Amino acid sequence: MIQTVRIALARPLRKLFDYSLPEGVAVCPGQRVRIPFGRQSLIGLVVETQVEPPEGIQLKPVQAVLEDWPLLPDETRKLMHWASAYYQHPLGECLFMALPPALRRGRPAALRKQPHWTITEDGRQAKLPPQAHKQQALLHWLENQGKPCSLSDFKTAGFSADQVKRLASKAMLTEVEDDQREAARETASTATLPALTAAQQVAFSELPPIEKGFNCSLLYGITGSGKTEIYLHYIQQYLGTDQQALVMVPEINLTPQTVRRFQRYFGARIAVWHSALNDSERLQSWLRVRNGEPVIVIGTRSAVTLPFSDLAMIVVDEEHDTSFKQGEGFRYSGRDMAVFRAHQNNCPIILGSATPSIESYHNATSGKYHLIRLEERAGPAVLPTIRLLDIRSRPLEGGLSAPALKAVGERINKGEQVLVYVNRRGFAPVMMCFDCGHISECPRCDSRLTYHRRERAMRCHHCDYQTAAVNTCPKCQSEAYKPVGQGTERAEDILSTGFPDTPVIRVDRDSTRTKGSIDRILGQVNSGDPCILVGTQMLAKGHDFPNVSLVVVVNADGGLFSVDFRAPEQLIQTLLQVSGRAGRGTIPGTVLIQTCHSDHPLLQQLCTGSYLDMAQTLLDERAGARFPPYRAMALLRAEAETMGESLAFLDGVKQVIQLQPQQATPQTDTGIETWGPLPAVIARRADRHRAHLVFVADQRRTLQRVLGPLCQQLETQRQPRGLKWQIDIDPLETG
Ligand code: ADP
Ligand code: ZN
Ligand code: ZN
Repeated sequence: MIQTVRIALARPLRKLFDYSLPEGVAVCPGQRVRIPFGRQSLIGLVVETQVEPPEGIQLKPVQAVLEDWPLLPDETRKLMHWASAYYQHPLGECLFMALPPALRRGRPAALRKQPHWTITEDGRQAKLPPQAHKQQALLHWLENQGKPCSLSDFKTAGFSADQVKRLASKAMLTEVEDDQREAARETASTATLPALTAAQQVAFSELPPIEKGFNCSLLYGITGSGKTEIYLHYIQQYLGTDQQALVMVPEINLTPQTVRRFQRYFGARIAVWHSALNDSERLQSWLRVRNGEPVIVIGTRSAVTLPFSDLAMIVVDEEHDTSFKQGEGFRYSGRDMAVFRAHQNNCPIILGSATPSIESYHNATSGKYHLIRLEERAGPAVLPTIRLLDIRSRPLEGGLSAPALKAVGERINKGEQVLVYVNRRGFAPVMMCFDCGHISECPRCDSRLTYHRRERAMRCHHCDYQTAAVNTCPKCQSEAYKPVGQGTERAEDILSTGFPDTPVIRVDRDSTRTKGSIDRILGQVNSGDPCILVGTQMLAKGHDFPNVSLVVVVNADGGLFSVDFRAPEQLIQTLLQVSGRAGRGTIPGTVLIQTCHSDHPLLQQLCTGSYLDMAQTLLDERAGARFPPYRAMALLRAEAETMGESLAFLDGVKQVIQLQPQQATPQTDTGIETWGPLPAVIARRADRHRAHLVFVADQRRTLQRVLGPLCQQLETQRQPRGLKWQIDIDPLETG
């Protein structure tokens, strides 16, 4: 009897495909197959077996079964099925997203044997010349590891393949055969964890042991309180030597320090997962997880989809960070999927943050999550004092007021470090003609062109448009064509001029584009010598700079009056996170926030209250306005060649929703509200006209019940040429 199987493809189609299996071949869900598809041959994943064959149709047979074991284990498959239904995203794309690119393309799922290196006696004795300090550092590092390391270990620690090769050629390193699996099982490290402080001990004791099963703890620990230390202890205390753990962090390449901290204690058990890995590194990490090695994965949001077979705990660090949510295509939240996964796996999960998201805080107050408070900094450090600096009638120089510059000078003179936070990269957000009023605008977007002085370029931060900077107004040729507003480059210039003897280090997407630049910058800061850091959001994230004693926020007002209901939350999170970089060592820190609205209640509360009080205020406001988390929200985004087409499409959808028969019973349903359609805040981006329609419902179920069939219907409907739509569940941006 010929068997029929149902296959998912990596296509944006809400549809599966049936094939027949050749005689004598058996498969199970999760297995990878090759199938004929039109004139192509594609990789597919088995979703269902023993499907009822269709009558009267001759199905095409599966061409090949790629492994005799399921590439996606049951648990990961179920997670992706859930995510597909929850986020209304095609199942095929969801399942394939859980595979590394090499396996999506059909590469064999086999671990390449990785050569490992150990240090030789020559290496131990080596005294390399100063210009080879990186090689010397590598030797030193390897010696401390106390075990053979692979190329990917070296890379994670910030060394290059080239350095390894050079040292090997000098016989300071030697290659050894090494079975990875065994290597990982060893407790690799000799380092012992520092003892927890009394406050940390109290917080730690509130974390449930693994045997308690699923449990979500929200660890509210102020900046510098030692949340990472708690994670390390938790893993050490509870993770079995054969078990796997997942630690999720935002944008890992920004915090190589964190990875190193974990490596110091857990050595080869650490596997990393982030976007800077190349395809074969990804494949290696993925297969280590799939092979059941007892790894501790440190990874960014997509690490939540890795094929764990014995996942015993999950940590989501900086759980409020918006980078956990994917901003396009499959718009999932890595944090929310992690909570689901922990539940599905019946294992504990810790969400940690100094500024928990309003959603998580709400779950903690409603008893769904267990709130643990850690409100003391570790060691001698204390929280910095936050002061508002009203700049309404003060002259500014590169965005900085005289009192702010004076404060910077005082700290530098004392040999301390200063961090200046500017929320925009480039020199100035706009060029303006003071004669005719002309403003530099992107020809493809409804947005302004940012002036980048270093590259003499005008750039759009919303599309990839770029043009050469000019000195005279393009419209009237006036020479009064001037930069307006603040960017990191401008602050850098002012500070370099004002403090010629102090290094000024700019940290933004432009200055960190090249590999290793972050490492270099961190190295310089960690040397402890006086310096001024100027940068964007990037500087706010999780860094530990013990000598920074002053933080200056150039302008705090952007988020105060935004149309987006999440803007105030994101503003105070950013301000507190940046502030948290001050005073982490022995020197008490100060934060100066420049603002034109020093009487704004939110900013006032920032100086005096605790974050949780502010979170409560924001939560109350959300309750009053019936915003999430009090109602479920989804956004249907559309873009087309004209705004008319986008709006017409969304209007059509709105009518369909309103005509939907009431399928639910009165007890469960209060219906769906729609807002809009409205043009997006940046209505035209890269010459596409964008609009959206918001859905809100009291019950998530109601939303799911309507959106599922709606997406199916939209997919099969003929749409105007060039029209694209996307659904966004629990949107973070509603503008
Ligand atoms: P958080 O993640 O909460 O901001 P970290 O875990 O980065 O804080 O800790 C802040 C600093 O305090 C780090 O330099 C860390 O090494 C140090 N620290 C934290 N806890 C301890 C401890 N128990 N003993 C010694 N140092 C600690
Ligand atoms: Zn002009
Ligand atoms: Zn543009």
